[in-house]
Amino acid sequence: MTKFITRFAPSPTGGLHLGHAYAALCVHDAARAASGRFLLRIEDIDASRCKREYEAAIHEDLAWLGLEWEKPVRRQSEHLADYQSALDRLIEAGLVYRCFRTRKEVMAEIASAPHLAAEGPEGPVFTGKPLAPSREAKLLEEGKPYAWRLSMAACADYLGSRFAALDWCEESLDPPHVCKRVAARPEVFGDVVIARKDAGTSYHLAAVHDDALQGITHVIRGADLRAAAGLHRLLQTLLGYPEPVYRHHPLLTGPDGKRYAKRDRSVTLAHLRQSGLEPADICRLIAEHLG
Ligand code: GLU
Repeated sequence: MTKFITRFAPSPTGGLHLGHAYAALCVHDAARAASGRFLLRIEDIDASRCKREYEAAIHEDLAWLGLEWEKPVRRQSEHLADYQSALDRLIEAGLVYRCFRTRKEVMAEIASAPHLAAEGPEGPVFTGKPLAPSREAKLLEEGKPYAWRLSMAACADYLGSRFAALDWCEESLDPPHVCKRVAARPEVFGDVVIARKDAGTSYHLAAVHDDALQGITHVIRGADLRAAAGLHRLLQTLLGYPEPVYRHHPLLTGPDGKRYAKRDRSVTLAHLRQSGLEPADICRLIAEHLG
């Protein structure tokens, strides 16, 4: 039997909606089809937006859908020291630099430098460099908060020809799950923030670390994170983590063609359940939305 471990990794920042139900079912059903393991991981590094009550609701919604997952569930907020150790390795290798700029300052800098104005998967691309040591020491002394950015130039130097050759295996969602190699191109992110000022880590670093730690062989998630697979391959290579296979599912959209957001109360699973719908109705609704 081939080893197959996958995970559903929601962030508890609101109620799960129809789009999440589809995502969770995709991951769960893929594990079942492969006689593999299905994990639930709570990605709650954002202390200002994540709430325990949403987390409890995630458990309730998924159980109501009939899903079963392994216990204990990994909660990222309990493992911040792990992500710090991974970050320390990037710091030691000289691949990251401190960024003291506020978001407003970054945007102003991008606006004033047309060569920086490319649009990346997470918005305008920023490329910078470390401050002069004396200036940095002064800001540190003043206690000015900072983020850590991954220097794409340093990564390219560090990996040499391996940088441009980075790629990932994108499997089709449906059997026979044909693998297509996709060029990673992590540079499209620019010098992405890898440890946020407020969290000490980022989604990218925490997710890549946990995928490795939990032995995830198949990352199955929404197509909005497809480009992120390229950045994740870079981080995996830098940190010596194994390479999982990726599958990206389409995002469900509402009648207006826009994807569901957590604020769309009418399609939250809690609301649909209270309106008398059963899990089978949810599957029917998902199928209708997928057309
Ligand atoms: N926490 C991420 C989200 O809710 C999941 C990312 C992933 O599956 O890698 O979008």
